Amino acid sequence: MNRDKNGFDEKLSGADEDVAGEIKKSVIVPEYFTGQSRMNFRCYPGIGCFTRCCSGIKILLSPYDIYALKKRLGLTCAEFLSTYTYQSFIEKSMLPIPVLKMKDDENNSCPFVTSEGCTVYTDRPLTCRYYPIGMGIMKQYDKKTGTNFFIKVKEDHCLGHNEDKEWTIDEWRADQGSDVYDEVNNDWMEVVLKAKTLGTVEFSPKSLELFYMVSSNLDDFKRFVFESNFLKAYKIEPGVVQKMQEDEIELLKFSLSWLRFTLFGEGDFIVNEDARKQAQEKIMTERKKRQPETTEG
Ligand code: SF4
Ligand code: SF4
Repeated sequence: MNRDKNGFDEKLSGADEDVAGEIKKSVIVPEYFTGQSRMNFRCYPGIGCFTRCCSGIKILLSPYDIYALKKRLGLTCAEFLSTYTYQSFIEKSMLPIPVLKMKDDENNSCPFVTSEGCTVYTDRPLTCRYYPIGMGIMKQYDKKTGTNFFIKVKEDHCLGHNEDKEWTIDEWRADQGSDVYDEVNNDWMEVVLKAKTLGTVEFSPKSLELFYMVSSNLDDFKRFVFESNFLKAYKIEPGVVQKMQEDEIELLKFSLSWLRFTLFGEGDFIVNEDARKQAQEKIMTERKKRQPETTEG
């Protein structure tokens, strides 16, 4: 569905294009797409531009990206963050976010690219899964659900656009596994979008630290839940607690819905206020005792 350029820019300005990576507006096709829009694209080993998109890029890492990569590499979250990321900020907000550190070589290559392709392919970040698509969410403050829309990026070096293979955007997302990542990250995306849309809202340093911890360090969040007063601070069904103990993806989803609740009051948590404050203070004190994990690169 074609829209006029001004309308598109207006929508884009409130969107999350930078959550899925930094995309230069000059290469964004001035249309926006729904999940049913169609596109021609194919990317495969042997295409003339193979891996040309894997250097000189800024890849902002979502919570599920960090979880999948640290698990793939057999690292703790803290080890992954200090080795492979630097801290930056999500555009139009104060929210801190880890960014994948490119190598210090001639092309500023991704640390995971080789001439044979991506060495973490099945766990590659959402930005790489979506490419050449970027996602935004249109959302009104008073509505619980947003309408997804998508943008297309067309860079000269990318020959995949010339291929005959045709997809709907939703077919592409499912093929690349982006839909699974989106589902896990959903509450986090809502937090990011709301923070960006509200723009001038200032978060306290404590809230920003909490945002970064929950967004990037599931190990710390696990300690926060199971080694503090957290479980006394909220009324949580025993079945939910058990799922979190047994399955880290459930823990991750829980952490992001709790983040949304704690920053914006959205969600169905029932709180014991005194115990909640004690739990937050304990985790912050423990984090301060440790070395800072990342610095601006
Ligand atoms: S993670 Fe893989 S797909 Fe993504 S930029 Fe690096 S090498 Fe390329
Ligand atoms: S077709 Fe595009 S996405 Fe695929 S390797 Fe080439 S530049 Fe990268």
